[in-house]
Amino acid sequence: MTIFVGCIADDFTGATDLAGFLVKQGFRTIQLNGVPAEEPDLGEVDAVVIALKSRTIAANAAIAQSLAALNRLKSWGCHQFYFKYCSTFDSTEKGNIGAVTDALLDALGEDFTIACPALPVNGRSLYQGHLFVNGVLLHESGMQDHPLTPMTDSNLVRFFGKQVRGKVGLVPFEVVEQGAQAIRKAFRRLKAEGKRYAIVDAVTNRHLRHIGHAVKNLKLITGGSGLSMYLVDNFELEDVKNRCADHIAEIPGNVAMLSGSCSTMTRQQVARAKEKFPSFYLDPMQLVNNPGFMENAIQWALEQAKQDSVLIYTTSSPEKVKQLQDLLGIEKAGDLMENSLKKIAKSLAAAGIRKFVIAGGETSGCIVKELNVTIMRIGPEIAPGVPWTVTPGKQPLALALKSGNFGSVDFFEDALEKIK
Ligand code: ADP
Repeated sequence: MTIFVGCIADDFTGATDLAGFLVKQGFRTIQLNGVPAEEPDLGEVDAVVIALKSRTIAANAAIAQSLAALNRLKSWGCHQFYFKYCSTFDSTEKGNIGAVTDALLDALGEDFTIACPALPVNGRSLYQGHLFVNGVLLHESGMQDHPLTPMTDSNLVRFFGKQVRGKVGLVPFEVVEQGAQAIRKAFRRLKAEGKRYAIVDAVTNRHLRHIGHAVKNLKLITGGSGLSMYLVDNFELEDVKNRCADHIAEIPGNVAMLSGSCSTMTRQQVARAKEKFPSFYLDPMQLVNNPGFMENAIQWALEQAKQDSVLIYTTSSPEKVKQLQDLLGIEKAGDLMENSLKKIAKSLAAAGIRKFVIAGGETSGCIVKELNVTIMRIGPEIAPGVPWTVTPGKQPLALALKSGNFGSVDFFEDALEKIK
């Protein structure tokens, strides 16, 4: 078996996002949720993505998890390694992107890599080392108020420089414009100057294509999912167009749509889906005050799902979310909602439902864990960054996992359309 690209992603839906891009190019791709305890049966595969939850944990723990993932990927003989983080470079001066990059370079015995979070299709671009979100500098984009990783410096040469041990250089826009050869020349120049990392500008997909070709001989590359878009040309894959067979169409039965995201887009998507499918609102106040409510919700879900695809959601307005958080505290409020969706998912799976669409990054993570899903083969894309996935084995599950703002207003219907 030849695995071309071995990837380590610092969060769950980010891993699926990356895996979706890899499949689109023709890499047969598997996502593993965490470093597997036992040797998994990977089957025929060209790329593996190990999803960690290491974005905001202590740097030492992120390093330990990432090295464990790297060792496993190395044991499968991957040709190239890819450390994937968020396209808004979510991290702090203490870590974790820089700390993990250093550890991976050391473990691979390498002395140079790049950092390129750009994802032009989602409005994240990098110009003269400065990261923009939809044309606004990162530190003015709203990311400066992020509760865990407030991004207050858009200059990644400077900011990344605080996270890493070595010196950081820049491959600027005007070089990237000239193509892969010019970028490679810039890598050589930076290395000769004693730089260990290059921030690489990218404003359009054409730039990502040049960068993708330029990194052919780097053992380790790091970036957002965008960097993965043009790697396939570096490898000799046969029949690229038909390599990723679609296994999802064969799974019978209705679909359970479960939504725990309260993002603006998800609220619109839920409102639209309510018009089309039988739906049940897991009203937080009922969950708190009415002991029989959860049981009713489960019974409703089991009955309805026999006849139709169903939507069950905790998705609420910011006012309602705040009301619950004021009552229980933020953490307990989240736990209560996640636990109730988990219970519904488990009951539906036990009753034979095998197709789930889940909205919410954290929500997806905890439901997938509840359903004991450790391996997912990545299938066709529903919306940018959201592919259908399918678990291996005799009774496969199909899962579509969407983080907050991904997808268009018709996301749920689009998802069902794709697996008809
Ligand atoms: P997103 O991808 O949009 O950030 P997540 O699933 O990651 O979505 O996060 C949403 C969080 O909000 C989860 O912890 C979830 O349990 C919590 N939540 C969901 N519904 C409610 C609600 N009605 N009130 C309070 N918290 C909620």
